[in-house]
Amino acid sequence: MAETLMFKTTMEFEYGVPREIAPGVSRLVANNPSPFTFKGTNTYLIGTKSLAVIDPGPLDSAHCAAIVRAAGGRPITHILITHTHRDHVDGLPALLAMTGAKTAGYGAYELTSTVAERGGPGGEGSHTDRTWKPDIQLREGDTVGGEDWGVTAIHTPGHTPDHLSFALRPTGTDRILFPGDHVMAWNTSVVAPPEGRMADYLASLEKLMARDDTIAFPGHGGQYETPARVAKAYLIHRRMRDTAILDSIKAGASAVPEIVARIYKGLDPRLVPAASMSVLAHLEHQLERGLISVPGPLSQTCDLAAV
Ligand SMILES: [Zn+2]
Repeated sequence: MAETLMFKTTMEFEYGVPREIAPGVSRLVANNPSPFTFKGTNTYLIGTKSLAVIDPGPLDSAHCAAIVRAAGGRPITHILITHTHRDHVDGLPALLAMTGAKTAGYGAYELTSTVAERGGPGGEGSHTDRTWKPDIQLREGDTVGGEDWGVTAIHTPGHTPDHLSFALRPTGTDRILFPGDHVMAWNTSVVAPPEGRMADYLASLEKLMARDDTIAFPGHGGQYETPARVAKAYLIHRRMRDTAILDSIKAGASAVPEIVARIYKGLDPRLVPAASMSVLAHLEHQLERGLISVPGPLSQTCDLAAV
């Protein structure tokens, strides 16, 4: 199957050293590289007088110390959370203890997936915290700000139900978006049931396509331009994958491992569990649209049939 996506896998950074990537925006990369996190989780500091942190990152005292050092004595008044995957929030308690900041994010949610089994993308302990209570609960269009910064929350579920993107209040010519793990340039986002839902993910891509942000600073990997166009490329990619999965079922594949073997040829074995969960997310979306049938709950091994 044709692959239309061009991934950007270059990134200039040094662990522990903040890099100013836009006026009033700095990035620190946590030292937790992996096949799922690329070079590591990005933590952003925004503002110039008092600061907000977007995503504290993993449990890593060196990273936490680097965040505080990067603030250079300026108060960190807010910690914004894109989503509660562990590589983004495990460092939150330590950073809270050092800053006394207010937290802001989506907060608690209920699962709505119909997929029978649980499972993250494999080996990363990536699960989300469904009970987290931020000091400031954010919903679509809500704003939060400090002395010289402000962001608007954009609810972008799909990667996780609690996933928010943040649009920075413009201070110059750029319209800056922090899309978290929803749209990254280094690779596609993992959509793994039950937290991940393909229908939500596709709708969230369309939400970004309708915006006019000029640059994006994602949860992993380097910045990229024209986020709306990147979101559209990812939407097209998912539609092609959806078609390929349906075609493989029509051609006789009746369970997830067979589909993965057919459409992810040459895949790094470490990524097979993630690919399997992604296929399951597509299958859930196909089931919702009445394109396939299964005799019982949707699972990796269920007996799939095209309708
Ligand atoms: Zn994530």
